[in-house]
Amino acid sequence: MRTAVVNIGTIVSGDWRDPIVPGDTVVVADGIIKSVGTASPEAVAGCDVVIDAGGATAVPGLIDSHVHITFGDYTPRQKTVGFLESYLHGGVTTAITASEVHVPGRPRDPAGVKALAIAAQRCFAEYRPGGMRVWAGSVILEPGLAEQDFKDLAAEGVWLAKAGFGAFADPEEYAPLVAMARRHGMVTTLHTGGASIPGSSPITGDHVLAIDPDVSFHVNGGPVAMADEHFERVIAESKVALQICTAGNLRTAMLCARLAIEREQFHRVLIATDTPTGSGIMPLGMIYTITHLASLLDLPPEMVMGAATGNNAAVYGRNSGLLAPGRDGDLVVIDAPLGGARKTALGALANGDPVAVGAVISDGVPRFVGRSRNTPPTTRPVRVAQCTLPREFA
Ligand SMILES: [Zn+2]
Repeated sequence: MRTAVVNIGTIVSGDWRDPIVPGDTVVVADGIIKSVGTASPEAVAGCDVVIDAGGATAVPGLIDSHVHITFGDYTPRQKTVGFLESYLHGGVTTAITASEVHVPGRPRDPAGVKALAIAAQRCFAEYRPGGMRVWAGSVILEPGLAEQDFKDLAAEGVWLAKAGFGAFADPEEYAPLVAMARRHGMVTTLHTGGASIPGSSPITGDHVLAIDPDVSFHVNGGPVAMADEHFERVIAESKVALQICTAGNLRTAMLCARLAIEREQFHRVLIATDTPTGSGIMPLGMIYTITHLASLLDLPPEMVMGAATGNNAAVYGRNSGLLAPGRDGDLVVIDAPLGGARKTALGALANGDPVAVGAVISDGVPRFVGRSRNTPPTTRPVRVAQCTLPREFA
């Protein structure tokens, strides 16, 4: 399938160092981006679907790197079906599991946590709720896991490991298991801050430094933050990625982002939601955190967008997150929300307003065009201008 988006007002790359791409057109074929900026009239005319963005803004599909999936499009924590499809209407085209800790009665023995991670990875290998790509299957680190277990998991395609919910007396006991997981090519993640749900334990900045994961999960608190002075140390004394989550502490989210920028470490800042949790289901969570950081810290929204897209892709080694040839065909058309004080999507984000989502394309397939069911309507009409398929995308 070939899809083109034309008449784009602004193209945001997802790379915070070089955030704007000149031009007005993006072409995707067979799930992969072919061109960004310009395309020949023939290349556009040959597409199955052409979407007229009407001067609105194109951004990479958002990557939420902290989603509490279980199985199917269901969250036991909030007893709700269809939340992932709802997040897609908030511009999220990729969800990365925060481990399957919310599975009721989750296993705690080595054989059980291995089976859970492999089953989750398999269950989402082909299943895309609403068109969303879900990277599932993060092994929950528990006492008793050994080198051979990580070798087995890696051979089965599990590439994520999560520390923070295991039955360890001292959090520093995670350190050798995190190192083991990393030796087998896994991206390692660590609960950070106060305890969240029963079964988790408080993790301070000292623990983060001692355990040394790839990602400090909800560094700003999930939902309770570590002490302010620990942010300075984690940023200065490690290379750990700093995942700022919507369902955390807003003040320390701002503190962390500001310190990271001052120390030229913005490439380590990731945006995620840490939902669904006790804090709820938040389809617009990614958009809210982008606008909170942009508006309250007076940062260029196109730069902050990089923390929600390209930075997540880089830290997790995914092929989505950038509007560039060869990357996954995931893009979102956003616009100033109808009735807002600003006239463009980026202006609205700088103003503190959630943007309107006008179209979502994932894996090169339009999932809807015209109006999200969760955001305000766009100011500019976003519509299907050409369609050769017997399908309706509105
Ligand atoms: Zn979480």
